[in-house]
Formats: sequence, structure tokens, C-alpha cells
Amino acid sequence: MSDIDPKALWSISYGIYVVTSFHEGKANGQIANTVIQVTAEPPRIAVAINKENYTHGLISGSGVFAAAVLGESTPLNFIGHFGFNTGRDMDKLSGVAAGEGVTGCPVLTENAVSVFEARVFDTVDAGTHTVFVADVVSGRVLTDGRPMTYAQYHARKGKAPRKAPTYRPPGTEKEEKPKGESSMKKYVCSVCGYVYDPADDDPKSDIKPGTAFEDLPDDWVCPVCGAGKEDFEPEE
Ligand code: FE
Repeated sequence: MSDIDPKALWSISYGIYVVTSFHEGKANGQIANTVIQVTAEPPRIAVAINKENYTHGLISGSGVFAAAVLGESTPLNFIGHFGFNTGRDMDKLSGVAAGEGVTGCPVLTENAVSVFEARVFDTVDAGTHTVFVADVVSGRVLTDGRPMTYAQYHARKGKAPRKAPTYRPPGTEKEEKPKGESSMKKYVCSVCGYVYDPADDDPKSDIKPGTAFEDLPDDWVCPVCGAGKEDFEPEE
């Protein structure tokens, strides 16, 4: 282990995808950053999915899945909706724009730059994850927008959930505190790790920069995963 500097792996670049599947009347979607094309002829892709994830069972059961390539302007809470909830407890696709693909699989179109469907050709047991290798059977471009990269997602304070292949345990990415920082405390979402920083100046937020956590409205929710104020703890 001592030969592995975890930061060496952090420079691998990825995109952000919603991988959807269905089986026996159930459908679900989850965030994955590990969709890659592995061959051109025939067009084949691979994706690593955690064995504990609900979508894993659906892909294993039906042998098909779809992937939506999320665009740069995808809101963080859209990613949080698919990344920090489980389809065991809710219908994550309810109210989200999606169609039905040629395999019968739900194909998510909301915030997507392009979408494709694939039929599983082989699987690799990778321990915590299964790598599904699959033949692409349909694909289309929806907008000329640019795909979001994993680095852009992290730059917007998005976090990897515990079951992601790229999960970083707490304490491995402590930020240097800039000098002259406000004394107002930061608060961390215990569900997804999002940090509320009163000094942040997010133009899309209707919260004024400089608003202390305590002064946020009672109905304020985590912009990433939707958790309430009670799920936040002061940062150490
Ligand atoms: Fe959260």
C-alpha cells in the first residue's frame, strides 16, 4: 500500500453519466463516472457498477443498460438525486425526462448531451464492482453542449459517494484555508459531504454570500443531495 500515492489516481479523467436499466417492471438510474468505449469495431463499451447498487441487479437481470452523457450545465442536485439516493426506496426516474430505447430500457434525456444503449457481452468480477462489457445497440446526440468532466463536477464541490470506484475517504483532501477567511463556520452535509461555506459566491444560489449556516431558512436543503439542515454538522 505504501507504494500507492492515492493522488496518482486522482489525475485520471472521467465524465459523469447516468446509467439506467430495468428488469421485471422495475427501472432505475445511478451516477457512474466509469463509462468508457473499449472497441470501435464493433462499438463496445464498459462500465463498472458497485455490486450493492440497485442498478447492478437490474443490469444483471436484463442484460441491458443505457447511459446518458451529462452536459456541463447539469445542476449538482440532479447529479445528487441519482448519486446519493437508492432506487430501492424511491422511483428515481419519476418526473425526470426519459424515453424508452430499442431494448426497452429507460433512456434518460434530461441534461444529457448524448445517450446510448448497450447489451451486455461479458462481465468481469472486479471485487466490489462488476465491469459490464457491452455492445452498443443504439446511440444519438441530443445537444451540441459539452459533456461534464469529473474534474468539473469536483470543482463545483460535488463528492463521490462511498460506493463509487473513485471514493476518497474523509480527510484525504483537506483544503488549505486561505488567509483572512471569515470566522463563520462551514457546515458539512453528513449525507453527501457537500460543504456549505458562507463565503461562497454561487451565482445560481438565491442565498446571499456571507449568510451564516444558522441564518439559512429552515426549509433550506443540501443543493447536492436534498438533505435538510438537520443533516449538517459543523466542519472540524
Ligand atoms: Fe448533501
